Amino acid sequence: MGEQNTKEISLIIPCYNEQESLPAFFKEVTAVLEKMSCTYELLFIDDGSSDRTLSILREMAAKDKHVRYLSFSRNFGKEGAMYAGFCNVSGRYVAVMDADLQDPPELLPEMYHLIRDEGYDSVATRRVTRKGEPIIKSFFARQFYHIINKISDANIVDGARDFRLMKREMVDVIVVMSEYNRFSKGIFGWIGFKTYWLPFENRERIAGETKWSFWKLFKYAVEGIINFSHVPLSIASWFGMFMTMVSFIAIIFVVVRKLLFGDPVAGWASMVCIITLIGGVQLFCMGIMGQYISKTYTEVKKRPHYIVAESNLEHDEKVR
Ligand code: UDP
Ligand code: MG
Repeated sequence: MGEQNTKEISLIIPCYNEQESLPAFFKEVTAVLEKMSCTYELLFIDDGSSDRTLSILREMAAKDKHVRYLSFSRNFGKEGAMYAGFCNVSGRYVAVMDADLQDPPELLPEMYHLIRDEGYDSVATRRVTRKGEPIIKSFFARQFYHIINKISDANIVDGARDFRLMKREMVDVIVVMSEYNRFSKGIFGWIGFKTYWLPFENRERIAGETKWSFWKLFKYAVEGIINFSHVPLSIASWFGMFMTMVSFIAIIFVVVRKLLFGDPVAGWASMVCIITLIGGVQLFCMGIMGQYISKTYTEVKKRPHYIVAESNLEHDEKVR
């Protein structure tokens, strides 16, 4: 990346089957950036789309020199796409934006002003409403933020988006944090730096459908908790301690009863209850440990985060 290629602003846009929203996104973002009169680049990451996303990107790149794109060999997920973006942009200020216009481009000038003139290292956005979202999704999202903030050292604001403008220094740190199981909101919070939070009203996606099923989101939430907290692991030892105490009391109770009243053979039902309860708790705790072990396993293998099949960058990192 030569000095002359360094842009003032780089936007990273992960796209997975976004043929309906891309043209509108491109138009709006370009309009905003052109008004800001600074150099910029748009790096689109085609995350293994099966629709016309890639050919739209090729057309856009042919028409507009600001457009860069990387296309993955398959779907690696938004986290992989964002990481590829961070590894391949040159901008002094960098932001990730969704392709569906749920991250309002008209916030960019204010974010740029705050980061450049007010001395912030990053300007992050958060939704203050979740209007237009299924109630059940909002409910679980809220619970997730509540729990993760209680039990982890990464401070994650409720409603925080991945849309935030960051200084080069921060981006360099994010690239260094090359963990395979990524949870970017946690990483942004974990690395610190001075952040300004810009609130905005939720917007519905302009076209197409959400790529996150409830199950995918649930797994992502578990990922976030496992990646940024060791509290679930200690649940096992607390359970163990509690059980040991209870069984001590039970032993005394049983022995005393035997000495005082003899041993009438009874209590099959309570025995079964105790055995199944303890069995259940043990399996649960082993499951928690299993989660951490499986994460460790995927980290140790050091598989690449993404594989690039096609791009229009001069020097890109094909695999990372
Ligand atoms: N996305 C991606 N890979 C995926 C899923 C999503 O790159 O496997 C992109 C998607 O194209 C969009 C952004 O991530 O630009 C956010 O996805 P979406 O709007 O579907 O999520 P929601 O806003 O509903 O949470
Ligand atoms: Mg969206």
